[in-house]
Amino acid sequence: MSLTLQQLNSADPAEALRLLDGLYEHSPWIAEQALTQRPFASLAALKHAMVTVLAHASVNAQLALIRAHPELAGKAMVSQSLTAESTHEQTRAGLTNCTPEEFAHIQQLNAQYNTRFGFPFILAVRGPRGMGLAKREIIATFERRLGNPVDFERAECLRNIHRIAEIRLNDKFGFEPVLGNEVWDWHEDLARHSDPGFAEQGQLTVTYLTDAHRACAADLVVRMRECGFDEVNIDAVGNVVGHYHAGPHPNPLPEGEGVKTLLTGSHFDTVRNGGKYDGRLGIFVPMACVKRLHAAGRRLPFAIEVVGFAEEEGQRYKATFLGSGALTGHFNPAWLDQQDADGVTMRAAMQHAGLPATLEAIGALRRDPSNYLGFVEVHIEQGPVLNEMDLPLGVVTSINASVRYLCEAIGMASHAGTTPMNRRRDAASAVAELALHAEQRAAADGDSVATIGMLQVPGGSINVVPGRCVFSLDLRAPSNAQRDALERDILGQLRAICERRGIGLKTEETMRAAAAPSAPAWQARWERAVAALGVPLHRMPSGAGHDAMKLHEVMPQAMLFVRGLNSGISHNPLESTTSDDMELCVNAFSHLLEQLATEHKH
Ligand SMILES: [Zn+2]
Repeated sequence: MSLTLQQLNSADPAEALRLLDGLYEHSPWIAEQALTQRPFASLAALKHAMVTVLAHASVNAQLALIRAHPELAGKAMVSQSLTAESTHEQTRAGLTNCTPEEFAHIQQLNAQYNTRFGFPFILAVRGPRGMGLAKREIIATFERRLGNPVDFERAECLRNIHRIAEIRLNDKFGFEPVLGNEVWDWHEDLARHSDPGFAEQGQLTVTYLTDAHRACAADLVVRMRECGFDEVNIDAVGNVVGHYHAGPHPNPLPEGEGVKTLLTGSHFDTVRNGGKYDGRLGIFVPMACVKRLHAAGRRLPFAIEVVGFAEEEGQRYKATFLGSGALTGHFNPAWLDQQDADGVTMRAAMQHAGLPATLEAIGALRRDPSNYLGFVEVHIEQGPVLNEMDLPLGVVTSINASVRYLCEAIGMASHAGTTPMNRRRDAASAVAELALHAEQRAAADGDSVATIGMLQVPGGSINVVPGRCVFSLDLRAPSNAQRDALERDILGQLRAICERRGIGLKTEETMRAAAAPSAPAWQARWERAVAALGVPLHRMPSGAGHDAMKLHEVMPQAMLFVRGLNSGISHNPLESTTSDDMELCVNAFSHLLEQLATEHKH
């Protein structure tokens, strides 16, 4: 028999403690202190109560808990002296089936780890989906975490301990994050498509209208139909658009005629060697909600339109937010003639994909905002904040303003041996000088950021003074005015540096996006949805740009963030989140839909 929350809430203290036995290795004090916060509104609330107890405990108490865990690689595993749960977890992970070489390697890592940190390596080996990490993932994680700073690694151990407890608690309560698991699996499945050159290396790269990109779109179409969307199509820029019509009855109401639509979605293209969840989570979460509605034979008094945006990252063409921009009428006609690195124009890429590639067809994608309630977007945080705070969800207050440039410094390529230092026109050194200035200037604001993420000396060689340097500039700040000041100063400095060094300069603005504060009423809906799950509310700005900032130009919008693992790393294959957090996100989205349904009753 599985434990119920009601049982736990009504049990006497000794019995309640017994019910939670074995959650944290030899440390019943965590459950004991958490239980003083009964009654718990949800399993998530109970989990968070235990997280809070440990967060407030002394470093010594935290270390004692970490040290109470058996070594993943140690003799304890061989001698089977672990608690039942641990043995179970490690069996699933396959660490008991090591080759002698693997076993020796793990022992060696373990010794290094103990020397460096003085506590055992803790890893929730059942992983983000609860199914068990592969042996190579465990070893790779072990290797990677050896490089962490000590304090950070202690916190990482505690996060893994919470994850172990979360899985044990799920088992105790017979709880399975069914929709979260499904959404997690959809990500895994979609990630099998990757562009050539990356696919072979096991890397995920999906750029605009490549074969892999079109395969993703085709998969999304099939998946949306399976979820029960009434209409699914690929539009003139390659967006995948699914409509779930309004009710009140299982028979759909036609759109228009006073029936409004909730717009939601995110992008399915990726950066090069990116993560599996960036963008895609914002497509799959509302799809899971529609699936649930459809399975229950339910319709809401408004339609739901989920868009998988074809292009957000600006990787193949300099056309960031192309997908969402098409919906707001901001497709730049000049983009069609833009060429990718292989000289393929966007027009040719569109034609190859079977799209009409006409401005007329693209112009027709523009949405009439009066038909829409607003736009909401779910996204993985892409930063360390929620992970550090041990919070699964965060409500976004505003998306930072940004501007991007592609630039070229043009000096004089000359002999590295014969050109005296005072006679050089070194393009790369000019950009290096700018990079240091940009770093200091952005840091001075406290909450601005400046990045030179691309820096190349085309055709450079070891014995030639760089004649050209091609580089990018990415500037972001919480308000338009702050961004503009940052941009003014950094570009001013760039011109001054180039002038002083006798360097020519070309700058091309490739993207400019205004700050996008969340619409208060929509932010409040997300806040109520998060509160209803029994997890603490955390409000935060978005440092990253998102499709919501395009839709912001024409309709109210608000975003919800989901915690990322591995310090919230993103634009990186280590990007990850758990199926438990995804389940919470699906439930938050469903709650938002129910709020809207109540507000818009016919
Ligand atoms: Zn994204």
